[in-house]
Amino acid sequence: MTAIILDGKAISRQIQDELRLEVAELVQQHGVAPCLAAVLVGEDPASQVYVRNKQRACERVGMLSQLHRLDPATTSAELLDLVDRLNNDPGVHGILVQLPLPDQIDEQEVLDAVNPAKDVDCFHPQNVGLMVQGRPRFLPCTPHGVQQLLHRSGVQIGGKHVVVVGRSEIVGKPLAAMLMQRDSTMGADAANATVTVCHSRTAELATVTRSADILVAAIGQARFITAQMVRPGSVVVDVGINRTDEGLVGDVDFNAVSEIASHITPVPGGVGPLTIAMLLRNTLTAARSR
Ligand code: NDP
Repeated sequence: MTAIILDGKAISRQIQDELRLEVAELVQQHGVAPCLAAVLVGEDPASQVYVRNKQRACERVGMLSQLHRLDPATTSAELLDLVDRLNNDPGVHGILVQLPLPDQIDEQEVLDAVNPAKDVDCFHPQNVGLMVQGRPRFLPCTPHGVQQLLHRSGVQIGGKHVVVVGRSEIVGKPLAAMLMQRDSTMGADAANATVTVCHSRTAELATVTRSADILVAAIGQARFITAQMVRPGSVVVDVGINRTDEGLVGDVDFNAVSEIASHITPVPGGVGPLTIAMLLRNTLTAARSR
């Protein structure tokens, strides 16, 4: 079997086309163009690429963007001061603090300081709590991207066994919480999964991953998921982005697993572009609610 490729780039373009129309409508009816303020501390090359891609995506859908670049030696107090100014700036609808932050900064303190109404990454405890309770203000970008990618590709989620490898606050944990909900913005078929979450202390990992109808890898280790860990005919979503001598690779051994899976996401061109599209969706939601 050769797997069907879940084309994240194409689906991201489709979502951005939808967003462009909605943004134009908001501008026409209320004279408001959504504005995303990105904060980048330091010179990390990958972070610079991510922020640039997010800004370009804003422009493509007719949104405004700001970039606030801070010195690598910035203190927590200086960063908190900038966040406070952005929180109180009526022209800014969404705030994105690009991670990781330098060691001298308390990341949690900074993320908690973002105004929940502008927290388009959905990292604030208030927004995480609302999402877990099934009444979201925003949805976390990468998990929402995974859900959109599956649903728009015609993959049924409701009633399926989803195994998520990884329990981070950014990907694994919120994805599990979203897919187990009774309903979703795309209807009940895009939620209602039976979810198992695995991590570095999971016993018999391969036995668990082989029981998945949909296997999601969010580990951060190149080609960690081998063909032996995948049930033939299952759907495999690779969230991982690992920089290696051979370029960007995912957490899944793509060549071997694509021979047995029914559907698989490529890296790059899978989940990554959806993450950006869902960030724009949240920025539009933030602008609308003001
Ligand atoms: P974290 O490092 O925060 O979490 C990794 C998770 O994987 C942890 O829960 C860890 O378990 C688990 N893990 C590590 N080793 C093993 C193992 N041997 N067996 C089972 N589980 C293991 O990573 P993130 O969630 O932030 O990111 C994961 C990957 O996704 C990275 O490659 C990252 O670059 C990528 N990413 C991609 C995005 C996109 O838009 N496509 C967005 C965000 C991230 P434990 O908790 O026990 O330590």
